[in-house]
Amino acid sequence: MSQDPSHLDAVDPLQAFRAEFAVPTMAGREIAYFCGNSLGLMPRATPTALSRVTEQWQTQAVEAHFTDDDAWMNYHELARDGLALIAGAKPIEVVAMNTLTTNLHLMMVSFYRPTAQRRKILIEARAFPSDRHAVASQIAFHGGDPAVDLIELAPLPGASTVDPAQIEALLEREGERIALILWPGVQYASGQRFDLQRIAALGARFGCAVGFDLAHAIGNVPVDLHDSGADFAVWCSYKYLNAGPGAIAGCFVHERHAHEHLPRFAGWWGHQASTRFRMGPEFVPTPGADGWQLSNPSILSLAPLRVSLAQFQRAGLPALRHKSVALTGWLAENLITRLGDHLEILTPGDPEQRGCQLSIRVRAGRQAGRDAFEFLAAAGILCDWREPDVIRASPVPLYNRFSDCQRLVDALDEFFRGQA
Ligand SMILES: *Cc1c(COP(=O)(O)O)cnc(C)c1O
Repeated sequence: MSQDPSHLDAVDPLQAFRAEFAVPTMAGREIAYFCGNSLGLMPRATPTALSRVTEQWQTQAVEAHFTDDDAWMNYHELARDGLALIAGAKPIEVVAMNTLTTNLHLMMVSFYRPTAQRRKILIEARAFPSDRHAVASQIAFHGGDPAVDLIELAPLPGASTVDPAQIEALLEREGERIALILWPGVQYASGQRFDLQRIAALGARFGCAVGFDLAHAIGNVPVDLHDSGADFAVWCSYKYLNAGPGAIAGCFVHERHAHEHLPRFAGWWGHQASTRFRMGPEFVPTPGADGWQLSNPSILSLAPLRVSLAQFQRAGLPALRHKSVALTGWLAENLITRLGDHLEILTPGDPEQRGCQLSIRVRAGRQAGRDAFEFLAAAGILCDWREPDVIRASPVPLYNRFSDCQRLVDALDEFFRGQA
């Protein structure tokens, strides 16, 4: 049966990383934080990194663009290798810029090019609202009608997750009319993980552009963007990447587009770096994902991202995934064996089809679910609530412990006993 959590914590090779994070406390005790899918905890090195930027500003002002190893002029380059690593991409394919929804729009300007015959966008039903707003508004912007041109693929009746075979069947029927497939790496509500390579290959077979929203995948599950063959991907950096509220987001453009002059919304930071400061009127895109940058980036936002990426590089992605599978597996197994009469897990049971998040539904209904969620919060166990009736709990391998998971299971057990 499942192993003792304090033993598992003691032999965890990543245990030292927890001390690198600030864990909020309640009544003097560290809370059990399961909201890394929403806002990752702050690395303790982040305030120092921010102070470094304000010190440069204070002491050097505009000269800080040029003087140090971490001069601001090419500062976004300092995030490149870390981003390439966690995105499974080549350095030329990734850039840190803007925010997720902005990047999604910029990518659709280039990769959603509807024609009379092929103008639809395929997304998942109950997509994150911002994604749905973005695709619907792009369709309308091109003179289309979202009611006709937006296809939202729902799980089969009675299911909580989409069977990838459904995507294939839909493309067999509609593929020739679909201009763009926008699909999540990990679905935010269900926690279901998708095989990027399989979806991108399907898109290629039917001539559709393919983009991924990796908001819940990046820093959570292995991601192989280059090999997947996707055209583009976008993600935010404040969830599993721990780069802070509103952090600068990420964007991937596949290498095969690196030297194409695709239509795009342009800005001076996307212009060829060597001639940017000649201040000429013509736009010449710099190769790769960098060519989609608009503005000079927020250094105050990039500094925390660098801190976070360095942690991922030190921890190593295979070690993180290994712990993540064990941690979430322990939680899932204990929830089901001890509390399966009271709750169900909507997230797939197969570790390959999920990341660290479990989406939990209390069988007694929405109100009991809310009560359970609030009972946990009062006990210093922070999960999050997603309407209509889901408690999301995401044990993050960089800072969560098996003993955090045990607290969650024990507290839920106590809650259900009180209900009886
Ligand atoms: C978190 C999240 C967003 C948030 O978008 P922002 O532009 O960063 O505010 C969008 N889409 C998905 C799927 C998300 O999970």
